[in-house]
Formats: sequence, C-alpha cells, structure tokens
Amino acid sequence: MPDTARRIVLASRPVGEPKPSDFRLEEFPVPHPGSGQLLLRTKWLSLDPYMRGRMSDAPSYAKPVGIEEVMEGGTVNEVAASNNDSYKPGDIVLGHTGWQTHALSNGAGLRKLDPNVAPISTALGVLGMPGMTAYTGLLEIGKPQAGETVVVSAASGAVGSVVGQIAKIKGARAVGIAGGPDKCKYVKEELGFDECVDHRAPDFPQQLKAACPKGADVYFENVGGAVFDAVLPLFNPFARIPVCGLIAMYNATELPPGPNRLPLLMRNVLTKRLTIRGFIVTDFAAKFPDFIRDVPQWIKEGRIKYREDIAEGLENAPQAFIGLLKGKNFGKQLVRIAE
Ligand code: NDP
Repeated sequence: MPDTARRIVLASRPVGEPKPSDFRLEEFPVPHPGSGQLLLRTKWLSLDPYMRGRMSDAPSYAKPVGIEEVMEGGTVNEVAASNNDSYKPGDIVLGHTGWQTHALSNGAGLRKLDPNVAPISTALGVLGMPGMTAYTGLLEIGKPQAGETVVVSAASGAVGSVVGQIAKIKGARAVGIAGGPDKCKYVKEELGFDECVDHRAPDFPQQLKAACPKGADVYFENVGGAVFDAVLPLFNPFARIPVCGLIAMYNATELPPGPNRLPLLMRNVLTKRLTIRGFIVTDFAAKFPDFIRDVPQWIKEGRIKYREDIAEGLENAPQAFIGLLKGKNFGKQLVRIAE
C-alpha cells in the first residue's frame, strides 16, 4: 500500500461559478487506524450539486465545509485495515469520507455493500441518495396518478432520470426537460419517456407546451429559473410541485433581473390550488426500506435504466464538479479514485 494519501480541500469560497483555484490538492501520510478504527480506501467519489451549497457560508440546511477542510462527499470505500470487529479488510462500504483517497472511521454511518447484488458505484446513484431523492420526492409529494402528466427537469441526470421512469411505472405520461439533443434522445429512446424537450432551444416554452397537450399535473423541480417560467403556465388545477433543487441558481450572486414575477406565481398558486413543497431527501429517511425493495427490482425487470459519467482520478474532481453545474455531465457524475 502506498504511504502517501491525497485529498482536495476547499481553498477559497467561490463567488459565482467555482474555479479550479477554489480547490487545492494536497498529499498527507496514510493514517494508521487506532483501536476500534478502520482505514478506508476510497474507490468511488460521488459529485453532487449540493456540494456547491457546502462551499458557501450563506445560511442553509447544512453546515458549510470550512476553508482548508476536505471537500465533503459520498463515497464507496474498501476497508484497507481494520481494528473493528464489525469489518474486515476487503469489505466494501458506503461512506461519506469526502474528496480524499484514504480516511479513518470508527464504523459509524457506514453501510456494507454486496458487490454481487449490484455494481458498487450504484450505491452513489440510482440505488443511493439520488435514486432515493427521486423515489421519495415523486411518490410522497408528487403522487402521480395513472394518466396524469409528470414533467421533470434535468431529466437525463441522476435524479431526473429515475423520476420519469417511476412516473411511467405508475402509469403517468413522462415529459423530460434536458439540455441538448443528445440528452433528449437518450431520455426518450433509452429511458422511455413520452417526450423530452431541450431547454436550450429558442422556442423551448412552445415545444414544452406542445409536449404537454393535457397540461402538467406534477412538476418535479430540479432547476428553477427560466425552466420553471416555462412550466408555470402549464399547471393543471391541484398540480403538485416537489421542489428538489434549483441548480440554475446555485452559482448566482444576485436575484435575476427583470420584472418581479412573484405576483404571477402566487396568482397561479391560488387560482390553480397548487401544492409547492420543498424537501431534502433525509426528510423521508423512513422510506428507505420501500426504496431498496422497489428500485433494485425495477432495475432487474429492465423498467429502470441508469447511466454513469465517470471522471478518472481525484485530481479531476474539481473540473468534473464545475462541469456538473453547467450540464457537462451526462448521467450520474462519479469520480473513480482507485480500481
Ligand atoms: P444531474 O445529474 O441532473 O446533473 C445536474 C444537471 O442539471 C446538469 O447535467 C444539467 O442538465 C442541469 N443544469 C445545470 N445547470 C442548469 C441550468 N442553468 N438550467 C437548466 N438545467 C441545468 O444532478 P442530480 O440528479 O444529482 O441533481 C438534480 C437536482 O436535484 C439538483 O438541483 C440537486 O441539487 C437536486 N438534489 C436535491 C436533493 C434533495 O434532497 N432535495 C438530493 C439530490 C439532488 P441539462 O444538461 O439537462 O441541463
């Protein structure tokens, strides 16, 4: 085993879009596990949009990463050495050890993974936090009914792809919104959505309206901004809007220019009796047994497909993360840290 480990720390808080200089790659000695501890070697690192929020010290639902601290993140790790009776070397675990090659753990918060059940990287995507976000946000808040229209933005991504496929399983019509023709083709042809509309097309609002001839009963919001503006006129009475993410705004330093559209929104909320509810996946932690019963089964039956976008090596994590915030990823963004 090499005795040098590597980590990426937050060097400065980004203003607007993160820059490579906001991150710093450091070397440190591989730590030795003490009594009851494990040494974890990272195999996969998950990159997720929420990390942009952790880089900022604006008040939010979670604590920011401190300057000079290791960037936070979900990981799949191999137990490299163990002084803990519950784990042995070679075990594969789901952890949260962040942007680094090695970390110590006392075992708290780890979940053992069985590589024979599913590829271990899926524990960070379709069978992990993003999949659980799609499952709970759609079923607990969106409550799609057969024959209804479910619209979802960032439809080719980790969360959105699962939302539309579950909507189909529930008998609804699934309409995706994604950036560019390749992603839209994938969403329709591979994932089986009924329609997918490119939010970069100049006539995007008109195309979206044409894709929703019976309006929208559920809108799973991942993006915000201009995409929400295009969906708003399509809501049917009693539409449900799980607000999962607002990625179009994560790098914003001020409110967008233009007229105040809040009165328009509130008029729609009132007259169409809309339910708009924000959620964080942990709100529905009690639903994990249902999720882990249903989604692996749907994958086995070919009813849920997934796609991974893999960056190679810890040193490429900052660039992949900067790209994720601009739609450069195509599928769940992962970083392979070690074979
Ligand atoms: P994705 O894999 O979907 O990747 C992000 C995608 O967002 C990009 O590929 C891009 O897709 C789209 N995007 C980025 N910028 C814009 C923009 N300005 N306008 C329109 N689309 C944009 O990420 P995830 O599936 O991991 O996350 C999706 C959303 O879910 C995020 O908002 C995230 O914060 C949220 N989330 C919330 C959770 C919760 O607990 N509430 C938990 C997990 C995720 P495209 O090229 O198609 O535009």
